[in-house]
Amino acid sequence: MLTLPSKITLAHLPTPIEKLKGNYGANLYVKRDDLTGMEISGNKVRKLEYLVQDAKQKGYDVLITCGGTQSNHARATAVAAAKVGMKAHLVLRHEGDLPRRGNVFIEQQFGAKITTISAEQFKDVEQIMDELAAEYAKVGVKAYPIRVGASNAIGNFGYLNAFNEILEDEKRYGVKFDTIVCTVGSGGTYSGLFLGNYLSGANKRIVGVNICDSAEFFKDEIFRIANRSLKLLDKPANLTRDQFEIVDGFVGRGYALSTTEEIDFIKRVIREEAILFDPVYTGKAFRGLVTTLKNEPKKIVDKPTDNVLFIHTGGLFAVFSKEDLFY
Ligand SMILES: *Cc1c(COP(=O)(O)O)cnc(C)c1O
Repeated sequence: MLTLPSKITLAHLPTPIEKLKGNYGANLYVKRDDLTGMEISGNKVRKLEYLVQDAKQKGYDVLITCGGTQSNHARATAVAAAKVGMKAHLVLRHEGDLPRRGNVFIEQQFGAKITTISAEQFKDVEQIMDELAAEYAKVGVKAYPIRVGASNAIGNFGYLNAFNEILEDEKRYGVKFDTIVCTVGSGGTYSGLFLGNYLSGANKRIVGVNICDSAEFFKDEIFRIANRSLKLLDKPANLTRDQFEIVDGFVGRGYALSTTEEIDFIKRVIREEAILFDPVYTGKAFRGLVTTLKNEPKKIVDKPTDNVLFIHTGGLFAVFSKEDLFY
């Protein structure tokens, strides 16, 4: 098996897999990456295991990152920093007072410093993080900027490693997965799974459901970051955009905005499967998966007896900033 760069341990792995009860037109399983931990739960911790290692090895003191008001990634970064004795500085897209709920609550309790900027300013957030790092440098502090969602060449190793874990899961559970489906929010989860499949020759289908922007936008994004990961691994960086399978059409009203249909769907899944998905990411993507299996199954599976593994990427703290939607 391919050797990845070293990582620190932040996540509780391997995460469990559950088979769903309902009839979906394929055998559906869920890998519970919402259970990678408690405070640090969700998919970002897998990426942070590699990024924090890189930062520590290079002698950094502060992790800078960014996201929306209730960013799960910003929260996971705050917790990771606290665990390894670093500081976190978060740049959140938010106007007005911060709500003291959900992910923001955790960030504040874990001692992260938070700077808020407007949606307009957020368009230049990479530059703003670089400037912040330069400010730290002036006072002799080394600050490590992590781009949105930790989706970069190093962050991708998190889900490359998760793919290898899934190959082990197949032996543990005695089931072979034909298709792996994940939410696409910044592209790193998809990129990592794709690379794991590609480099191992496992020959599965890796399907993403985008919950913001468009499939075309993410094909470009994944093309860029996945090829960079291949370069870091000294492999030919010759992936092409048409290799990525992204199912579009489930963004709804836009990033972090919900429709009644989406919330009703999540509530139905709670009752039928006893699993809680979040409205921003996994709820939309799982709805995309179930709807597409029904209407255009070829986009997900080759035949109805195929085994499909959906990655529950977390987002539970964000649910507890949006309870009102459910009543
Ligand atoms: C960030 C996030 C995603 C999206 O993953 P990417 O790697 O950014 O595409 C999915 N689900 C949850 C809960 C997230 O926080």
